Amino acid sequence: MQPFIKPHQYNFIRNQIELLLQQLTTVNDPDVRDAVLYSATTKIFDIIPVLSPEQEELLMTIRNQASEQQLFTYLDQIEPFVEPFPAITVAEIQALFPKTKKLHLPPLDTIDFSATTYLSWNDTSNKRKFFVYPLDGTWIGLESSYLPNIQHGICSLCKTNNEVALVSVRTNKSADHYRAVGNYLCIDSDQCNASITAISDLEKFLANAK
Ligand SMILES: [Zn+2]
Repeated sequence: MQPFIKPHQYNFIRNQIELLLQQLTTVNDPDVRDAVLYSATTKIFDIIPVLSPEQEELLMTIRNQASEQQLFTYLDQIEPFVEPFPAITVAEIQALFPKTKKLHLPPLDTIDFSATTYLSWNDTSNKRKFFVYPLDGTWIGLESSYLPNIQHGICSLCKTNNEVALVSVRTNKSADHYRAVGNYLCIDSDQCNASITAISDLEKFLANAK
């Protein structure tokens, strides 16, 4: 079976498992335990809607996990089926930023692509943040700038409380009219990628800023 779980979907499933672990410690009634497991299963199937019988069978094994240990085993079982961020070369990244002089490159060798929903890195000396993402099957590159004051807040992309910075993107909606779009985003994109569970706001952000 080929990998079919996106990194953000894996995060979602992991969050569901963590929630289950909290809920199950307080529940002994087998019917209630079954209902709690059923509810988690439904949520997982809602976010991964089209499944082959094999994929469904793999994800469905969550229903048989009774103990804490088994729930961790479940995460281990599905992890090999996480589909990494698509491969991209330095040359392809450079081609996405033709106007950027001396492009600061991402550390491609050390990035965990199976935990990457979107590729982003910072040029700390110039306070620039770059994004690369396959939007509707086409690579897009986005350069933004961020304010140096880092604060605690909710990130617009992963919706978790994290260290965020105000990130602005200039969009040229018409030739001489620039509009700045600002969002509070995790300054550390590895942390953001470890938390993000949905891509709708990410794709909206990237599409608006294009
Ligand atoms: Zn975030």
